[in-house]
Amino acid sequence: MYIGSHISTRNGYLGAAKTAAQLKAGAFQYFPMNPRSLSLKNVNEKDAAACAKFCKDNGILSIGHAPYPLNPAVDETERELMVKLLVNGLEITEACGSVGLVVHFGKYVGKDPLQGYKNIIQCLNSTARQFQGSSLILLENQAGEGSQLGLTMEEMVQVRKLCEQPETIGFCLDTCHAFASGMWKGSDWSEMENRGAAIDYFPHLKAVHLNDSVHPLGSRRDRHANIGSGYIGNEWMKSVLASPYVKHIPIVLETGTGTDGTHRQEIAHVKALAGVSDSL
Ligand SMILES: [Zn+2]
Repeated sequence: MYIGSHISTRNGYLGAAKTAAQLKAGAFQYFPMNPRSLSLKNVNEKDAAACAKFCKDNGILSIGHAPYPLNPAVDETERELMVKLLVNGLEITEACGSVGLVVHFGKYVGKDPLQGYKNIIQCLNSTARQFQGSSLILLENQAGEGSQLGLTMEEMVQVRKLCEQPETIGFCLDTCHAFASGMWKGSDWSEMENRGAAIDYFPHLKAVHLNDSVHPLGSRRDRHANIGSGYIGNEWMKSVLASPYVKHIPIVLETGTGTDGTHRQEIAHVKALAGVSDSL
């Protein structure tokens, strides 16, 4: 399995991949560009190519995470910038050899929520027309804090289907968000898996954000807890890790680091829950 954590690009993309290897992580997530701003970034091709080679040689899978303010649901007047940023992010994840670029589903503040969905589809269509690589857009489900969009598998599947090039889109399941939104009740993983498989969600699941939740089921609050120390707990996490749909995709922690300043211990803990050796 490919279990790891979010890792800083302080030492570049290759540096992040090397850190993942040191932590015995089989996967990692990084920010391809500044996570807090909407500014474009020049790709450091040499560093990115070295990252891609290192990951390939060491059997590590990676995903990029788009900047937080990037919102694909914005109205037409702001869309061009969002598309530019998505294309820029995809160029970097492609160069780094990553599976895809994780993008939050989108927040829409206008009166008509259907316009929000239309905006997301238009934004994804424009992005797909401008980017030809194999790195995917990975739509992430939301906790429901300040937004009604992106809380169910059905919506994500429908939006993907309505896009011009659905093959350019996959899904990233955040377990904390799923629990906070009520999509996943913790005890009902197999029902959720069966439903998600039937509607074509799980076949397109390409990454997992494995996070416990500080707040209870259906709280609509997005606060990640370390695995086993939130309301989800170890047993329900085990049911996720046992799923056939997560065996070949990156599973990434977005939780606080341990006492050594890394996720080393928590990665080992998740591997134990998954029943895989820490040497893998
Ligand atoms: Zn997440």
